[in-house]
Amino acid sequence: MKIGFFGGTFDPPHSGHVRAASAFADQIRPDRLLIIPNYISPLKDKAVAPDEDRMRMCELAFSSVPGAEISDREIKAKGTSYTYRTVAALEREFRGAEIWMLLGSDSFMSLERWARWRALLCHCYIAVAMRGNEKPPLFTEKVRTYEMHYGARISLLHNEPVEVSSTEIRGHRSGLVPQAVAEYIREKGLYE
Ligand code: ATP
Repeated sequence: MKIGFFGGTFDPPHSGHVRAASAFADQIRPDRLLIIPNYISPLKDKAVAPDEDRMRMCELAFSSVPGAEISDREIKAKGTSYTYRTVAALEREFRGAEIWMLLGSDSFMSLERWARWRALLCHCYIAVAMRGNEKPPLFTEKVRTYEMHYGARISLLHNEPVEVSSTEIRGHRSGLVPQAVAEYIREKGLYE
């Protein structure tokens, strides 16, 4: 059994997130794919949009990804959303399953800033979606180091990179969001 998860602030979810999740669903074929909006990221300020709006926008955004389920587990847990805790909870819930963590290449490159990152490399299979701005030698070197020194199991997804970030969308500098999300943002007056 393969349990995939994709964590993020999703403030808002955009086309880069959706493409990454679709590539993951196609290429890794998880039995479950949980999209997990965080409550508070350990590395970022609290999201701008309210939690319930981020949940709803994720439902709209990822509805095109086969099997994707939006999970409110980190939002319900409140506090700082540490990924190693989420992984431990998934391991308890899905005993014996492979836990697959989907990451964008920027998050993968900064994994060492995450709490208990070495444990994450041991406990999870990692799938990396390209964002289009990675520096090839540094990126390849990191993959090799993690594999050689920590026994990491890393799969690089073949996804067409979409160069967009939630920050750009909040600043109205990009339109790369699924249409239903764009409408929701407009109706609710988010990020104005
Ligand atoms: P922000 O601009 O607010 O920092 P973000 O666009 O990076 O946000 P997050 O919600 O922080 O979005 O990202 C959640 C996950 O999605 C991370 O693993 C991140 O690397 C990945 N991700 C974000 N944007 C893309 C993209 N364009 N392509 C592939 N993966 C992405």
